This record gives sequence, C-alpha cells and structure tokens, in this order.
Amino acid sequence: LVFLGIESSCDDSAAAIVRGDRTILSSIVDGQTALHAEFGGVVPEIAARAHAERLDLCVERALAEAGADLHDLDGIAVTAGPGLIGGVMAGVMLAKGLAAGTGLPLVGVNHLAGHALTPRLTDDLAFPYLMLLVSGGHCQFLHVTGPDDFTRIGGTIDDAPGEAFDKVAKLLGLAQPGGPAVEAEARDGDALRFALPRPLLDREGCDLSFSGLKTAVLRARDGLVAAQGGLRARDRGDLCAAFQNAVSEVLAEKARRALQHTGAPVLAVAGGVAANGTIRTALQDVATAAGARFTAPPLALCTDNGAMIAWAGIERFREGNRDGMDLVARPRWPLDTRAAPMLGTGK
Ligand code: ATP
Ligand code: FE
Repeated sequence: LVFLGIESSCDDSAAAIVRGDRTILSSIVDGQTALHAEFGGVVPEIAARAHAERLDLCVERALAEAGADLHDLDGIAVTAGPGLIGGVMAGVMLAKGLAAGTGLPLVGVNHLAGHALTPRLTDDLAFPYLMLLVSGGHCQFLHVTGPDDFTRIGGTIDDAPGEAFDKVAKLLGLAQPGGPAVEAEARDGDALRFALPRPLLDREGCDLSFSGLKTAVLRARDGLVAAQGGLRARDRGDLCAAFQNAVSEVLAEKARRALQHTGAPVLAVAGGVAANGTIRTALQDVATAAGARFTAPPLALCTDNGAMIAWAGIERFREGNRDGMDLVARPRWPLDTRAAPMLGTGK
C-alpha cells in the first residue's frame, strides 16, 4: 500500500508519501511561522489562504521526492479535523479533487488519531498502548486498543502544555513557537530558584491543568520586573527551567497513574511537546519504573506532518474505512466518544 497524506489543520502545510510497510518515502512540511510572527499567534484567515496557495506544491514535491506519481498511489488520506476550519477545508478540497480525478480511495483522518498512531509508524508497536498526546492544542491520556479505538482516561481541564509553553515564551519575550525557545533557555537555568505550583497533583485521577502554572510564571516575571526594572538573561533561563520542570513533573506523575490504571505494557508519547528532551526523559523514567516500554517518535514526526496522516489513513483503510465526496471538514472532532470513569472535561 502507498498513501499520500495531506495535513493543513494549523499552521503547517504538509504532504507525505508513506508505504504500508512503514517506509516514509517523502515528507514535506511547509511551515508558516514567519507569516504569523508579527501577530504573536496563528491568524486563521492567513493560515487558510496560505494552505490554499501552498498545499498543491507540497503534494507535488512529496510525489517528486518519492519518485512517484499519482498512479502509484493506493489512496489519499487527509486531515478532516479538528483544527482551524479554513485550513482543514483547503486540505479536504484538494484531497477530494485528487481522488475524483484519479479514482483513488479517499480516507478522512482525525488529526489527533494521526498523532496518536504515529508511534506505530516509527516503531514496531502493537495494540494496546497508553498514549500521552501532548501538543499545541491538546493534552490527553488515551488507551489505544485499535486504529479507531481510543479511550480517554484523563486530560487537561484548561490549557494544553504546548499552549502554555507558547504563552510563557511570549511573556518572557522569546520567539514563537515557544516550546523550543523555552527548552533552549532552560538549558542553563536553575529550576530550583522559583517555586512554581504543581497543579492538580493532589487530585486523584489523570486530569491535568496548566493555566495556573502559566499565571505563576507571569507573577514571578512581574515581581522581577518590579524589583529590578527588567529581566536579566539569567532570570529568563531560571524561569524557563522552573516552568519546564513543573510541566514535566506533572506529566510524569499523571502518566504513572495512567499506566497503573490501564496496565498498558507501553507508554507512547506524541504531539509537539513530545519533542521536549526533559519531558521525554521524565516519561521514559516513569515507564521504566512501571516495567513498561517507552516509545516516542523522532522530533520531526512529533510536530505536525503529512506522514502521520498518510499512516493513519493506511491504518483506517486496512480496517475497511473509506470516505466519499461527502467528507466534511470538522473544526471539532473528539477522538473518544466513550466516557471512561476517570474522564475529565478538558481538551
Ligand atoms: P494540535 O495537534 O493539538 O492541533 P498543533 O498541531 O498546533 O496542535 P503540534 O504541531 O503537535 O501542535 O505541536 C506544536 C506545539 O508543540 C507548540 O505549542 C510548540 O510550542 C510545542 N513544542 C514544540 N517543540 C517543543 C519543545 N521542544 N518543548 C516543548 N514544547 C514544544
Ligand atoms: Fe498537531
């Protein structure tokens, strides 16, 4: 099987060609960071227009790099949600056009399923496994028992960690996306200089919260500015290290509980925040202590990409799923429709 995957749910236009034996023949990611930089966040209208302009070329480049043309494909997978609706629509329209023109099967993919199934593309991983999906817009623990079987056993009740990294970067005057910037600053920081909270650690279950942590960083910053008239380079490093440690500790403790609750043999992590070295190490330690295996995709497959969509498309296709020309773009699309007893209300 050879699939084209198209991704356009946020600010990365991406296309990839992936084979059913888990070979990534090509993966093109055309990021829009520069387009949105002056606005301090992703502007949906600008993103939608850029996707509409660039996706074609991403697909062309992905095919060229794979040394393939459309007739070598067995199907076309596309992110059909959740995400910024204009961008998702641009991808879905392109995929429908290609499917109609070639007669190839069309498979709509949930972007979150794309992230959550990535460890099966990058590792020899069988079901079931525990997935911690930590990205710019989401944070949830999922018990994954099949390509379309996700049981949510906890998640954030407010911000996603990626969002918190981005906001912390913004309030410290660092570049966007905030995750890599905060991680770089934290490298030489003293994590113990500021005592930041560990939200919801005292509450049972696997729900998480990050908005109070972000506010605590804001207060610490304001305190420093008031006392010194500004921030010193060291202050930024120390604040970033303290923040990153707090996020990492909370994620690790909740992952420990989620492993215990599910008895899953593997802890897998995916989503942009999974690119963070401190967080990866903390999760790896938790898995080892629980006697579970740990797996995380390489960094480039943690953030948004087309390969994960092509792969999720292959997995869905193998289960007999196809979509028709009535495939719709969905701004919201929860991965799990079952309510687990430990369920929270977050995203
Ligand atoms: P979603 O998948 O929830 O729709 P998204 O697609 O925008 O959101 P991703 O592309 O998976 O999210 O991840 C982007 C997020 O990951 C950003 O918030 C970014 O700051 C964060 N991130 C990237 N690298 C790192 C890192 N090294 N440390 C922490 N966070 C990081
Ligand atoms: Fe994503």
